Amino acid sequence: MKITDIKATTITVPLEAALRHSNGTHWGRFVRTVVEVETDEGIVGLGEMGGGGAGAELAFAGLKSYLVGHDPFDLNRMRYAICNPTASLYNNRTQLHAALEFACLDIIGKKLGVPVYQLLGGRVRDRIGFASYLFFRYADRRSGRGEVRTIDQLLKHARALKAEHGFHAHKLKAGVFHPDYELECFRALAAEFPADTLRYDPNAALSVEEALRFGQAISDLRNDYFEDPTWGLAGMRRLREKLSIPLATNTIVIDFEQLATNVRDPAVDVILLDTTFWGGIRACVRAAQICDTFGLGIAVHSSGELGIQLATMLHLGAVLPNLVFTADAHYHHLADDIIVGGKMRYENGAIAVPEAPGLGVELDRDKLATYAELYRSLGGYAYDRDPGRPGWYPLLPNTSFADHLNDAVPDLGLG
Ligand SMILES: [Mg+2]
Repeated sequence: MKITDIKATTITVPLEAALRHSNGTHWGRFVRTVVEVETDEGIVGLGEMGGGGAGAELAFAGLKSYLVGHDPFDLNRMRYAICNPTASLYNNRTQLHAALEFACLDIIGKKLGVPVYQLLGGRVRDRIGFASYLFFRYADRRSGRGEVRTIDQLLKHARALKAEHGFHAHKLKAGVFHPDYELECFRALAAEFPADTLRYDPNAALSVEEALRFGQAISDLRNDYFEDPTWGLAGMRRLREKLSIPLATNTIVIDFEQLATNVRDPAVDVILLDTTFWGGIRACVRAAQICDTFGLGIAVHSSGELGIQLATMLHLGAVLPNLVFTADAHYHHLADDIIVGGKMRYENGAIAVPEAPGLGVELDRDKLATYAELYRSLGGYAYDRDPGRPGWYPLLPNTSFADHLNDAVPDLGLG
């Protein structure tokens, strides 16, 4: 079989509300690029990558000269064809490679008539549990609804998500407001859901000392782990010497070199595996095996997914014996999806691993066209800016947090 063409389409899919994080905001929408790899046998594989625009579409188009004529079964060669480590110093294609690996695995599965998890050695579970992934949110400008800023709003939102999807673990995306206020929020969640587990993730916004203070103040709670409280292996290592809570990262151990460093000189206990950041599902499986060997924990990370990428996370979770934590997904914050049948559904906090050949999802072409048009009309958004604080951008560690008493509703450019 040979690859004959690679098509990339950047789309914008609405979120239920604008999601705030320590480095900026998702401005009420996700921009993603859907990749279709075509073959001479008529089988088309699907991939997905975060971000997009003309840059992403051109980047995939630029790989056609490398990959047209390549056999999609030759995954090991593809890695070196486009991700040679030395060439990557100049032109890092890790995330492009991930999207193309997803598509090639989809093609192989469709050709052989088996789900991707079978290509990875077979599943050990058929459902993947997820955490609630709570965000502070801006209200919708038109309806005035959807805000999550006060403790009452946060608890109401968490209760609603738990009632609808059945979550048993709650992750607070944090680092937006001052840590003293977020500590109140986090402890209120713990009091509201005493049987559930928790995780706090300020995206490395805190100094080592502030993270230490925060970690000590939550150490009596049912923490899965304390996620990226501060930046850098050295800072995390200092924290790890002083805290009893496991430390997790999706930020500073995202390749094999960093994993080797963390094995030699541990700074992090739980590695959050992202099928995009690591360059594909297979790299995550290898990393999980290394973590298992050295007694490190793992979980499945979310970098903001539509149904195609969600399928990669489900197949990954299905084959990892050492996956004891629930996964993360932004998925339930989406208003819609671009796969046939609409959004996948949670049951008791878990999503079933797709059973159909390949990734097990099909593209809804009408939705793809609709959301490609929405991208063209709205354009991109600045992930690393906060529409409620024009001109602001965070230092690291951050010393200028948002005001939790300010209920302003910024213009998100959504019309
Ligand atoms: Mg994180």
